[in-house]
Amino acid sequence: MLASRGCTEYCTYCPHRLLGTYRARSVSNIVDEVEQLCGYVSRPHITFRDPLFTRTRDRVLELCDEIAARGLRFTFDIETRLDQLDLKLLDKLAPAGLKAIGFGVETADGATLKSVGRRATPEAHQREIINHAGKLNVTSVAFYVLGFLEDDWNSIAATIDYAIDLKTRFAQFKLLTPYPGTPLFKQLEPLIAEKDWEKFDSFTPTFSTRI
Ligand code: SF4
Repeated sequence: MLASRGCTEYCTYCPHRLLGTYRARSVSNIVDEVEQLCGYVSRPHITFRDPLFTRTRDRVLELCDEIAARGLRFTFDIETRLDQLDLKLLDKLAPAGLKAIGFGVETADGATLKSVGRRATPEAHQREIINHAGKLNVTSVAFYVLGFLEDDWNSIAATIDYAIDLKTRFAQFKLLTPYPGTPLFKQLEPLIAEKDWEKFDSFTPTFSTRI
């Protein structure tokens, strides 16, 4: 399901911002659809594909209240930024059915994050949210990106070490990919060697790096 579309952040490599600004469905409209799905199958699991599910805290709280008010029994997973989660919000989402959160950490290097327009989340906050999610039995899935222009073997090893140390249940590593339309694509255009768009899948190298 999609409860919202787009994102209000400005990471230069991200394709989620390309098709318009952030816009969200109303709480009642979302819960109507959930209710419909719960009518088709008992206790469905729903993946919310919003890039920034918890963008508006009050709206998420309202959503949890509406799920409880209608007595809907289902589980779900979301994707968001760790700095848009807090302990109380997790405490509310877990009983509503939250089973997993996906979030970008991307790299352990703050300067690299800055170079791609990504706001860093303080390490203490990352650890606090991941630990609390674990206590609530909510699976944490961290996303990482390898192959930033600033990367070398040492920075990549540092990111992998950081991923191990964060102790999320899962860690997913992808290659930096300059998707057409993104600011990153413009920046890297002279370095892009791959011409087959099918290979812009985040797992195939598409441009030359200095490594
Ligand atoms: S926060 Fe996530 S969804 Fe938003 S622009 Fe950055 S990478 Fe894209």
